[in-house]
Amino acid sequence: MNEIVLKGIPAAPGVAVGAAFILDKQDFIVAPRAIMEKEVPIEIARFEEALIKTREEIAEIQKKISSEMSGKHAQIFDAHLLVLEDRALVEEVIKRVKSDKLCAEYIFSEVLKKYIKIFSTIEDEYLRERVSDVGDVGRRVLKNLMDENKLHEFENITEELIIISHDLSPSDTASMYNKNIIAFATDIGGRTSHTAIMAKSLGVPAIVGLKDATLRIHNQDNIIVDGRKGLLIIHPTEETRRFYRKAQTRIIEFRDQFQEIKDVPARTLDGKEITLLANLELPEEIPAILKHGASGIGLYRTEYFYMNRVDLPSEDEQFEAYKYVAQAIAPKPVTIRSLDLGGDKFTSSLQIPRDMYPCLGWRAIRFCLARPDIFKTQLRAILRASAYGIIRLMYPMISGPGEFRQANIILEEVKSNLREEKIPFDEKMQVGAMIEVPSAAMTADLLAKEADFFSIGTNDLIQYTLAVDRVNEQTASLYEPGHPAVLRLIKNTIDAAHQANIGVGLCGEMSSEPCLALILLGLNLGEFSMSSINILQIKKMILSVSLKDAQRLAEDVLKLSTGQEVEELSRSRLKELAPDVLSMDRGE
Ligand code: PEP
Ligand code: MG
Repeated sequence: MNEIVLKGIPAAPGVAVGAAFILDKQDFIVAPRAIMEKEVPIEIARFEEALIKTREEIAEIQKKISSEMSGKHAQIFDAHLLVLEDRALVEEVIKRVKSDKLCAEYIFSEVLKKYIKIFSTIEDEYLRERVSDVGDVGRRVLKNLMDENKLHEFENITEELIIISHDLSPSDTASMYNKNIIAFATDIGGRTSHTAIMAKSLGVPAIVGLKDATLRIHNQDNIIVDGRKGLLIIHPTEETRRFYRKAQTRIIEFRDQFQEIKDVPARTLDGKEITLLANLELPEEIPAILKHGASGIGLYRTEYFYMNRVDLPSEDEQFEAYKYVAQAIAPKPVTIRSLDLGGDKFTSSLQIPRDMYPCLGWRAIRFCLARPDIFKTQLRAILRASAYGIIRLMYPMISGPGEFRQANIILEEVKSNLREEKIPFDEKMQVGAMIEVPSAAMTADLLAKEADFFSIGTNDLIQYTLAVDRVNEQTASLYEPGHPAVLRLIKNTIDAAHQANIGVGLCGEMSSEPCLALILLGLNLGEFSMSSINILQIKKMILSVSLKDAQRLAEDVLKLSTGQEVEELSRSRLKELAPDVLSMDRGE
């Protein structure tokens, strides 16, 4: 088989070599499970039982429908029953269970996919329409063969696999933690989409925006994911494999060499000390955060708490988690962001209606202000945990001082309840605003009078300033962190914070890209928060440059007209100042 190279958008660095596992929500998600010779008859019996059970279920539905509705509706189920009677399909499954020695549900899902493909290309319209019947029946059989919930989980995965999917939701990626998933790649998504953020927090390479990877890759294909360059290689030759195995070793060496600067303060050559913080999605990341020498947590994305569950997390449950994180990181600070759901971050338990423009819709602080019950529960948990470490609170998606005040009114109410109940909390807990909406960046001077600190969220700030969806691969080239409008808004925010003498940090992906971080340093940003995997690389950059050099670059880029010019200039400047820092993300 010929080697095929697909090009996507690099989402998380690193290289993985392994077998592909196609995950398609619209389809049947079943992991292969090897069986022993003696298990073959058991698998076949399970399959036949599932067929019988499915037949009974369909007959039952048919009976009910024909008594309630016209016979025409009930006829649909005749077609479903016919699928189950299809001996060719049934025989093929049995034959392959015997020959491939894999579990019945996996073989059945594979055979079914083949049938669906054949049906979809048939010229006869009537037969072509039977595709949905085959799909519906297939789902029923699978449900009877295995626990339905398991269809969408990664629990079944026991061997190291590379997940290939059309898309991955934040809850999908959150459930990959501690599974044997060594990389992932998706058809859609942009470089700051949540797929990319979670890949970094899981410490695995990832590529997004591959467009049609799910159609071109098959289960168990040998593939390579080069997350530095955004390359996905199908059926690599032995030579390519050798090249990438060496690259893996070099990456490990490259990362290890940075460990020696873990405890060194992040100080520029001319003595400016910078604070490097970590972003946290799940408490499981704490060991990695400590390993990379973070000076605290600059962004704790609490929405992951609300995912992969049918109910809402209780106050106590949240309190325990926030307390655990605060204690594990103490005496360093933890910046907890209140719930940022909606838009690209959705969850099943809250039934947030789908807006036409979700990112402009009912999300984050807007949602919390409209649902004070949910907001107050979280605020109580955060305040209670503040007695056990250093916690700072920040609100997402603040669009101006009005919203910030409204949120603070609710916070004050919660505080006074806690006081009445004599429950301890940190009376001096700092409360900040995320600056990720252009209106907030433009009114930063006004907001600075209300907030204790700012945290610039460039992932959203870029999407709202440039009107470019951060998760859309079609417009990925327009998503320019170096765009003059973005840089001016960032500068305005930093200057306003300094003028008001309040803290300002940046927690978007921009702070983890060395060339862009150099510009931010030159704009006098003193606090950077990022996936822990990037901290030491950025520290290396800071140790290699002077603040003066960075300021000169910032001055120069502010005179440029396009994001591309900005990135080119900062890249060439960094190459002169700190060539070592770039070698990892260039994939050399
Ligand atoms: C941001 O928008 O830059 C940010 C850090 O928040 P999130 O990526 O969670 O939207
Ligand atoms: Mg954001």
